[in-house]
Amino acid sequence: MSMYMKAGIRMTSAEIVVIGAGVIGTSIAFRLAESGRQVMMIDRNGIGAATSSACDKAIFLQSKRPGLHMDLARESRNMYNTLEEELGQSVEFKGAGGTVAIHTEQQMLFMKKFVHDQTQAGINVSLLNQKEAKEQQPILADDIIGASYSPDDAEVNPLKLSQGFATAAKRLGVEIMTHTEAIGIEKSNGKVTGVKTSKGVISTETVINACGPFASSIARFSGVPMNIKPRRGVILISEKVDPIVNGSLLDAQYIAAKHLSGQQPEYGIGLSLGQTDSGNLLIGGSREFVGFNKHVHSDVLHAIAYHACKVVPALTNIRIIRSMVGFRPFTGDGLPIIDRSEQLRGYILAAGHEGDGIALSPITGCLVRDLLNGGGPTSRFLPHLTSDRFKEKTLL
Ligand SMILES: Cc1cc2nc3c(=O)[nH]c(=O)nc-3n(C[C@H](O)[C@H](O)[C@H](O)COP(=O)(O)OP(=O)(O)OC[C@H]3O[C@@H](n4cnc5c(N)ncnc54)[C@H](O)[C@@H]3O)c2cc1C
Repeated sequence: MSMYMKAGIRMTSAEIVVIGAGVIGTSIAFRLAESGRQVMMIDRNGIGAATSSACDKAIFLQSKRPGLHMDLARESRNMYNTLEEELGQSVEFKGAGGTVAIHTEQQMLFMKKFVHDQTQAGINVSLLNQKEAKEQQPILADDIIGASYSPDDAEVNPLKLSQGFATAAKRLGVEIMTHTEAIGIEKSNGKVTGVKTSKGVISTETVINACGPFASSIARFSGVPMNIKPRRGVILISEKVDPIVNGSLLDAQYIAAKHLSGQQPEYGIGLSLGQTDSGNLLIGGSREFVGFNKHVHSDVLHAIAYHACKVVPALTNIRIIRSMVGFRPFTGDGLPIIDRSEQLRGYILAAGHEGDGIALSPITGCLVRDLLNGGGPTSRFLPHLTSDRFKEKTLL
């Protein structure tokens, strides 16, 4: 087969080809196969090897903007309740709650309004005073002035999540080809006819671009322009320590860095803190537009560590063993694009989840399934996730 593949001879065919096997592509492959579709999924690396393994583990509800963003996140969060059973394996999902620490009076004003809006939107979130905040997260600095807390926030192991979706998809018949790069899209008469890969051509009439921050390069092959920009994030990983964090912890500066584009702290720094089952701490993080540059200046690492130690002084004595760099797929409005192209029939886009792809992965599989099959419980969201909302704007 490899000789034919090198010669670029058609190697195989599939009803649907998913390009990209991160949390988004694997979730899509799983739901499509579950609905009876014949799916092939390819990735130029391994399963979950890009952004989906260089990120935090939080499924935060209280950090989402009320409205569509929140509605999607809430529905996706509910799907997590039964996901492990559906996948037939653990993804280390825990409904352990989430805390947002508040350090300054200015942050308190911002968070009071934020919590008020979240409560109005039906989120179970409350504002804690300093004593209550310290009871909830004893590791917080003595000079924090309060926190917000939601029992509905949760966490998951992102590595296990991509693997879990992929294993379940495989069980349902999805063929997965790793180390297979998409290098072109074949078209005829305004329709997709195949995907050119580094190992040959896959004939198909439907291709799904689930390449996260790399989606724009696939879009270039398709001739259907789109704009997803990489927003770099860096996380420090600590040595294994006894459990010190209850659920997930953010600080108000993180919420501001996420939502207030005009008032970014230097390097977009805000605290995110989570702990894996094996005891390592994930200490984040930054938000920067530097293209796909993976070379992180030591100033950024220092800034993350300095800020984290200010909010959680106990981190000062914990050793950092490595750092990781990921690229959030940024669309500009915090929402993904889940859409079919009108210019090129059979070309579907499912990318752009920015800093919420882990939280939104369960619902994204269902959204794409409902887009392709028609009807379905999530189809009401689809008209709001099309790419025409950016027609008047360019990000790059
Ligand atoms: C620092 C950081 C912290 C984060 N924290 C959280 C969090 O706490 N909670 C949360 O919900 N989200 C979080 N996110 C966001 C989340 O990680 C992303 O939204 C999500 O992982 C995107 O998944 P994806 O599958 O779209 O992209 P990816 O995981 O990047 O997958 C895309 C895949 O496409 C493949 N690919 C690219 N080009 C090609 C090609 N030409 N041919 C074949 N394959 C190709 C890549 O190899 C890759 O595997 C964080 C992100 C970062 C960077």
